Amino acid sequence: MTLPARITFLGTGTSSGVPMIGCTCAVCRSMNPRDRRLRPSIHVDVQGQAAILVDTSPDLRQQVLTHGIARLDAVLFTHSHADHILGLDEIRRFNFMQQGPIPCYATPLAWESIRQTFHYIFDGLPRQGGGIPKIDAHEIDGPFSIGGVRVVPVPLWHGPLPILGFRFGSFAYLTDCSAIPDDSWPLVAGVDTLVIDALRDKKHSTHFTVAEALDAIARIAPRRAYLTHMAHDLGHAETSARLPAGVELAYDGLVLDALVDAS
Ligand SMILES: [Zn+2]
Ligand SMILES: [Zn+2]
Ligand SMILES: [Zn+2]
Repeated sequence: MTLPARITFLGTGTSSGVPMIGCTCAVCRSMNPRDRRLRPSIHVDVQGQAAILVDTSPDLRQQVLTHGIARLDAVLFTHSHADHILGLDEIRRFNFMQQGPIPCYATPLAWESIRQTFHYIFDGLPRQGGGIPKIDAHEIDGPFSIGGVRVVPVPLWHGPLPILGFRFGSFAYLTDCSAIPDDSWPLVAGVDTLVIDALRDKKHSTHFTVAEALDAIARIAPRRAYLTHMAHDLGHAETSARLPAGVELAYDGLVLDALVDAS
């Protein structure tokens, strides 16, 4: 059975965001709102069933305020880089509103790093003031279910770091990747809508270039594909004009409909 879902792009920029601090390039000075990119995150809303946040970016507070997100049933982490986790403290507001801990899912490797970065959340020591987010930590070791919605983790290489993409039925989100392992291609076979990392045109050790992303899209052959995690090298208008049919640059605030799998 499938369920209708609404996917919102909360951020589509690389780790520094666009514009970058102190940069005067044409894209960083652009007045096109689609050239303004917060740090990468998406929200998957399955009405009445599950509101799922993928990654807690440093811009999380601004992102949830902009989009009026007032409930989270789960947070999924792709990996533990700063641009994907530094907003974790904002979970406190959701703890208060929902009167309970928020279930969070990550690989054991990512948890190791998140526990170090956010030691005050996990060390159990008494605090003099200051709130602490309440996290219900789950380790990902295969497909799982959130509020009746099936989530399939898709192992990816982010340079030498093993990380996860996520597939929800007909939709897959593969951010921060430089290679797709052999065993992961079948996990994304047949998706209708694919979101994939494309940092810039110049080769990078831990991210796909636009050309590499297009190669992966051609092999997966979704009906439509969106590029994300873009650096300031990729202006929205200029880059969009040279993409093949069926491939677009994502942008902050883009909303897509998708069908997710019930579990
Ligand atoms: Zn990233
Ligand atoms: Zn710039
Ligand atoms: Zn990363």
